[in-house]
Order: sequence, then C-alpha cells, then structure tokens
Amino acid sequence: MNVLIVYAHPNPRSFNAAMREAAVDTLTEAGHAVQVSDLYAMHFKATLDEHDFKERQNPNFFDPTNEQYHAAMRGSFADDIAKEIEKVDWANLVIFQFPLWWQSFPAILKGWCDRVLANGIAVNFATYDPLLSGKKALLAFTTGGGAAMYAPDGPVGDINVLLTFARNMFRTAGIEVLPPFVAYGVRSLSSDEREVELQRYRERLLSL
Ligand SMILES: Cc1cc2nc3c(=O)[nH]c(=O)nc-3n(C[C@H](O)[C@H](O)[C@H](O)COP(=O)(O)OP(=O)(O)OC[C@H]3O[C@@H](n4cnc5c(N)ncnc54)[C@H](O)[C@@H]3O)c2cc1C
Repeated sequence: MNVLIVYAHPNPRSFNAAMREAAVDTLTEAGHAVQVSDLYAMHFKATLDEHDFKERQNPNFFDPTNEQYHAAMRGSFADDIAKEIEKVDWANLVIFQFPLWWQSFPAILKGWCDRVLANGIAVNFATYDPLLSGKKALLAFTTGGGAAMYAPDGPVGDINVLLTFARNMFRTAGIEVLPPFVAYGVRSLSSDEREVELQRYRERLLSL
C-alpha cells in the first residue's frame, strides 16, 4: 500500500509528531511505502489565490473554481500544488494527522484541501463526478478535551458529528473515509498513558 501522511503541527516534538513517527515506522516495517507532507516544515501556503496558477484562463476576473479546472486540464498548477497532487495520485491511503483546533482542521491543513483537492483533480464541480475513487482516508488527531466531552451526550457533542465536514469533503471526491483515530485529552495524560495511545495507534494502523 502507498500511504501519504499529511501532517499539520508546528512543533516537531509534539504528540502529533510522535503519532506521525509511529505511523511512518509501523507502516514502513509492515512493508508499505510512506511519504510525509509536513505542511509547516514545507511552509505550505494555506490560502488559495491567483499565485496557484501558472497561467490563467481569465486574467481579468479571478474565479477560483474555473481556474482550478483549467489548471487541472492544462497541468498548470503552481509547483507546490502539483507536487501534492502527484503524491495524492500515488497514494492508496491518505492519513491526515493534526490537532483539533476549534473543532476543525488547523488552517494550514484546510488550505491543503482547498488547494490540492481541486476542481478537476478531486471532483468535477460541474458534474459532481468524484475523481479519487478507490482511495481511502484516515483522520488521526488529538484533542485537548477528554473523550467525555465528545460523547454523543457530552458538552461539545459527538465527535463523529463534528467531523461531518471532513467526511463530506472526502466522500465528494470518492474517497472512502475510515473510522477516525482520536487521541483524546493528550495533554492531561501521563507519559505512560500517552505511550498506551501510541501503541493503540500502531495496532490500529496494522489492522488497516
Ligand atoms: C487554536 C487552538 C484551538 C484548539 N481548539 C480545540 C478544540 O476545539 N477542542 C479541543 O478538544 N482542543 C482544542 N485545542 C487543544 C488541542 O487540540 C490540543 O492541545 C492538541 O490536540 C494536543 O496535541 P499536541 O500534539 O499539540 O500535544 P502536545 O502538547 O505537543 O503534547 C502533549 C504531551 O505529549 C508529550 N509527548 C510528545 N511526544 C511524546 C511521545 N513520543 N511520547 C509520550 N509523550 C509525548 C508532550 O511533551 C506533551 O507533554 C485547541 C488548541 C489550540 C492551540
């Protein structure tokens, strides 16, 4: 299996970094090919704008939807996007590794989705034809709040409901979304408990 890990955390010594390393080691040892897009280390641009396109379909009016489709047809995305599209094309499984920030993706990861899962690459926005069918996605993330906060009757609500936006985005592209791996409340855990979480993650990866 070819696995792309799209990793979004600014600190290389964070628990998210430890999860990323656990995934790289576990999957590689199991014989899979792994690539990592370390978005902060790459200084990946989070905003979709005119600079995303080497040529413009309409230089007089910037329409992101049309320009993405044009770039997809002409192979004229900016180099940073083109490289990520190549990695997505290569991957059977994409793991998104991130801390939950304001009940969502860190902006840099949302930006990766906006720019890489483009019209004409991930989905045809005119016909809604999915273009990435056959691929799978796993959301692997940490939270500040404990599991009880994200239970169906908890104060924040069911984690699976919170993740609807991501599931819908990937499913629109035809990507099968696997049940998420959540490490809850990692900052409140002891180091032994955190090691248990890493082991639980390794086992989950081996069961994929
Ligand atoms: C802007 C913002 C918004 C947020 N919004 C939310 C929200 O909506 N909901 C919510 O629940 N939380 C929220 N949080 C909290 C956030 O989700 C957590 O702080 C984050 O998930 C913790 O993950 P981390 O990788 O940053 O942990 P870290 O703080 O990096 O790590 C936790 C602990 O693990 C240790 N560690 C690192 N590597 C290892 C290792 N190999 N083995 C064992 N221990 C290790 C670290 O040293 C540290 O002590 C928010 C935080 C921010 C900054």
